[in-house]
Amino acid sequence: MEELRSASGRWPRRLDSPTLARKVAVFSAMVVLWVVATILALDIRVTTVDLLRTIVLCSMVILVAAALASFTLRILVRPLSILQRGMKAVEQGRLESIEFSRSGDEIEFLGRSFNRMIEALLASREQIREHQEHLEQRIQERTEALEIAMERACAASQAKSEFLANMSHELRTPMSGILGMIGIVLDSKLEPEQQEQLETAQRCALSLLGLLNDLLDLSKIEAGRMTLERIPFDIQDEIGVLAKTHTIAARQKGVDFILEISPEVPRLVWGDPLRFRQIVVNLLSNAVKFTSNGWVKCSVSVAHPLAEPASSIVIRIMDTGPGIPHDKIDHIFDKFTQVDGSISRRFGGTGLGLAIVRSLVDMHDGDLRVDSEPGMGSTFTVKLPLEPAAHASSSGPEDSSKKDGVCKHPPGERILLAEDNPVNQKVIAATLRRAGYQVVIASNGEQAIAALDREEFVLVLMDVQMPVLDGLEATRRIRANPRWANLPVLATTAHAMSGDRERCLEAGMNGYISKPVHPAHLLATVNEHLKGVVGGHSSRL
Ligand code: ADP
Repeated sequence: MEELRSASGRWPRRLDSPTLARKVAVFSAMVVLWVVATILALDIRVTTVDLLRTIVLCSMVILVAAALASFTLRILVRPLSILQRGMKAVEQGRLESIEFSRSGDEIEFLGRSFNRMIEALLASREQIREHQEHLEQRIQERTEALEIAMERACAASQAKSEFLANMSHELRTPMSGILGMIGIVLDSKLEPEQQEQLETAQRCALSLLGLLNDLLDLSKIEAGRMTLERIPFDIQDEIGVLAKTHTIAARQKGVDFILEISPEVPRLVWGDPLRFRQIVVNLLSNAVKFTSNGWVKCSVSVAHPLAEPASSIVIRIMDTGPGIPHDKIDHIFDKFTQVDGSISRRFGGTGLGLAIVRSLVDMHDGDLRVDSEPGMGSTFTVKLPLEPAAHASSSGPEDSSKKDGVCKHPPGERILLAEDNPVNQKVIAATLRRAGYQVVIASNGEQAIAALDREEFVLVLMDVQMPVLDGLEATRRIRANPRWANLPVLATTAHAMSGDRERCLEAGMNGYISKPVHPAHLLATVNEHLKGVVGGHSSRL
């Protein structure tokens, strides 16, 4: 096809015009003319010019030229023109065979070859189409198979996460019992050896609880059952408390702990204090854990202090620890990933902390990054969009009683504990009694309401899942009675699942303490809710 194209790559403008024929005719006329002229020249030299002969010869020249032109037109130009039209059709995507003359010469051969080429092209086009159809079908089959496999894998993973999330109650309750009982025994008079043994048991139980909490949190996140609370909390207070505990841990290792809070950081912000604490604790404890000498620094600032509305809170945790190799840095946020197994074994840990931090930061739509240089240290930077809560009322001016962990309340205040599990009853009651409260225990919601009818209480701790009458229904009945309209009711449950908190609040509860109950947290929460009662509503009781 290329050969038929002109030098510029285009087809000749009119191949069916008699150009070739004309050229052949002119060429043959020239030949004949030359023959005639030679004869005439010979005649002239011998002076035998014959006019008639000259006319006949000239006519012969014209006839031969015309015959040659017509012949060329018929046997060469027309078949070539048909061939050209066929090629043009191919160029436009139409594979059509052409008519060719059965002249038995090269022209016929050319026509046949062209038609064979068209047949071959049609066959290969058909093959390609079939292959394409087959390919599409195979892709569809594979995609369907993959989708089914993916659905199965997701369902299995979801089932695993749901199972773990559901097991949360079953796993945390006995742990709560073990820790509570150890705490109670540790508070009694013990031989030094017994004290040491029990403290070891307490440390083991605490580390097991830490692992359990990490696993349960992760499965809750993966099962999509973790939601973020939005309440006002004192971010400076939270950071201060965390810094205090980590300063102690750092000093024990001879490491300095530096805390810097920029003046533009608001005190109160809207957010989930529990999850905020979890993010910071994980990063701080890693920094202290992996740093053997030098310092750990925690700085809190605002991303763009002048922005309106105020922008994100930035928490930067720096350390002079071993740093993280560049090729490992992308993997430290994966589950169960530790840079150096031997180091991690020495320091402890499961490789879940950073995976949880990343998931929690993602849930906040925040940002988490790490910069690290092996041998120099690491810097973890978390940016969380926490809106300032300037006029929030739930967290008032700094409460010194909360700060020093001492609950200042009139001695002998009565708290009603509605709880069906005997171990939990003992642990919670013992914690409250040690703090100076009187505790009355009810084993279900009905007993709780009966106790409220009989006696007066400053606060109710209400388990959610109880026989006879559950905590939610019991609270609704309490709220329905104007006598108890302002009585603080706090839920105590291991069901720290998405929606449970909302259900508790909807039923009329004032707060939420998750199990296993941490003594300091229990007392701090009870104290916080009693502040209002002691100051204003206690006369009602
Ligand atoms: P864990 O601390 O329980 O091992 P993490 O998920 O918190 O698990 O951390 C994963 C790994 O990242 C750690 O084992 C450690 O190798 C590395 N890492 C985390 N924080 C630091 C840090 N501040 N300095 C050096 N390495 C760190």
